[in-house]
Amino acid sequence: MAVEHFEVVIVGAGLSGIGAAYHLQTECPGKSFAILEGRDAIGGTWDLFRYPGIRSDSDMYTLGYRFKPWVQAKAIADGPSIRTYVRETAAENGIDRHIRFRHQVKRAAWSSADARWTVEAEVGPEKQLARFTCNFLFMCSGYYDYAAGHDPDFAGRESFAGKIVHPQFWPNDLDYKGKKVVVIGSGATAVTLVPEMARDAAHVTMLQRSPTYVVSRPAEDAMANWLRARLPSKLAYAITRWRNVLFGMFFFNLARKNPDKTKERLIDMVRQELGPDYDVTTHFTPRYNPWDQRLCLVPDSDLFRAIKEDRASVVTDQIERFTPKGILLKSGRELEADIIVTATGLKLQLLSGLQVSVDGVAKNMSKTMSYKGMMYSDVPNLASSFGYTNASWTLKCDLTCEYVCRLINYMDRKGYQIATPARDPHVEEMPWLDFSSGYVQRARDVLPKQGATKPWRLYQNYALDLVALRYGAVDDGTMQFAKAHPVAVPVAPERLAAE
Ligand SMILES: Cc1cc2nc3c(=O)[nH]c(=O)nc-3n(C[C@H](O)[C@H](O)[C@H](O)COP(=O)(O)OP(=O)(O)OC[C@H]3O[C@@H](n4cnc5c(N)ncnc54)[C@H](O)[C@@H]3O)c2cc1C
Repeated sequence: MAVEHFEVVIVGAGLSGIGAAYHLQTECPGKSFAILEGRDAIGGTWDLFRYPGIRSDSDMYTLGYRFKPWVQAKAIADGPSIRTYVRETAAENGIDRHIRFRHQVKRAAWSSADARWTVEAEVGPEKQLARFTCNFLFMCSGYYDYAAGHDPDFAGRESFAGKIVHPQFWPNDLDYKGKKVVVIGSGATAVTLVPEMARDAAHVTMLQRSPTYVVSRPAEDAMANWLRARLPSKLAYAITRWRNVLFGMFFFNLARKNPDKTKERLIDMVRQELGPDYDVTTHFTPRYNPWDQRLCLVPDSDLFRAIKEDRASVVTDQIERFTPKGILLKSGRELEADIIVTATGLKLQLLSGLQVSVDGVAKNMSKTMSYKGMMYSDVPNLASSFGYTNASWTLKCDLTCEYVCRLINYMDRKGYQIATPARDPHVEEMPWLDFSSGYVQRARDVLPKQGATKPWRLYQNYALDLVALRYGAVDDGTMQFAKAHPVAVPVAPERLAAE
């Protein structure tokens, strides 16, 4: 089998992978690279999800790349516009030429003797094996399973006479005009779907086990649009981006310092939207503090308007079982439905389930400690792109890409071929994400750990990361540098089992 070599292999052509390629081309000019993409398209999340109303829930001034201004009027953008933005970035910078579509990466084996990864991908529906080698592997494969969403096994599911749909696999031809729809869930997807489907459906019920914080913001940012009309677009974008970053950090810190006050204020805002007669306590008062889970943003109060106009309603209860006509609730009430949408979430996955081995020993990546939120203890020359939980994904991705480029350039300058974050056994382990959301809790066993101290600590703070990743020393005492060197191959087969 012919094996192609690239200095860098990027896995994934979503927002992160295209951003990674841009940084690499710009900050490490001349490095050969390829993007291996499992699907047939650029855009990742923004190409996969096709449910009605699909949109961002953070503003595009921070979800957009630092290097490419978002110039559309809407700050909360729809999925197709974001997909176009990512594709445009790839086309404008000649990145699309480097993408190998339908290459689903399955395994990566590191050899210290060669200072290289051997990456194996299955190509096309026949799953033909393709092999690549690279000096640095950059995983931009997102954070969830593309093949399956989280779909709880509701009792009586098969008895339901209507259609059951998961938002990750939306049927193109689903006709919900004039139909009764129940959307199970209370997260970002549910609050997007409910008002959108309520435009045409007979009625949409959002069925939630427990409430989420829901905040309304204008879809268009008047100040950003004002600035863009008067200033060069790059300058206007930079100002708005920084304003939004600082506001986001301020609000997050306020919520963490004064949870009770913030909670009161957020719930008050919902009360103002829905009026004094609406049962905000039952349906919009979460049991947790703000930012223990991600806040749900709705543009221009669309969810609240749909509720006020009686096109949509919220039911807070638990599911006993599905019935032929709909859903029987624990309270004894039955919700009738023609269509049930299970907006029950994503199945988190680390590095898209990649099988990793280092010098012949299989690595269980969930047992590693994450270094600066992007590399993994005792795993050389591998980084991954993961965004913030309390701010836009791309803020962290841009910084991650900058750091990876600095690391590669540093190794070139010093004549090193290997960079490994060395695990310090004295650093206390902590969960990687401190979110109480169901999808994070369900994935505790597949996610790596973070450490209690720098550089193993995840601060979820753009300003701190900016200083550490853009300006901090690459040779920080934890990152160990080396030239290619032979390592004894393990002899006992049991060593091949995950460490
Ligand atoms: C519905 C939805 C809405 C969201 N809204 C927001 C938001 O408003 N703000 C925000 O900050 N974040 C949001 N997110 C998080 C969102 O995923 C990120 O914003 C961002 O799109 C992630 O980009 P990515 O390129 O890292 O990953 P993805 O978009 O998941 O792209 C990963 C790419 O890698 C490919 N891939 C994966 N594994 C392999 C493999 N083994 N081999 C080859 N290719 C592979 C996939 O096919 C895909 O193309 C949202 C997520 C969802 C699901």
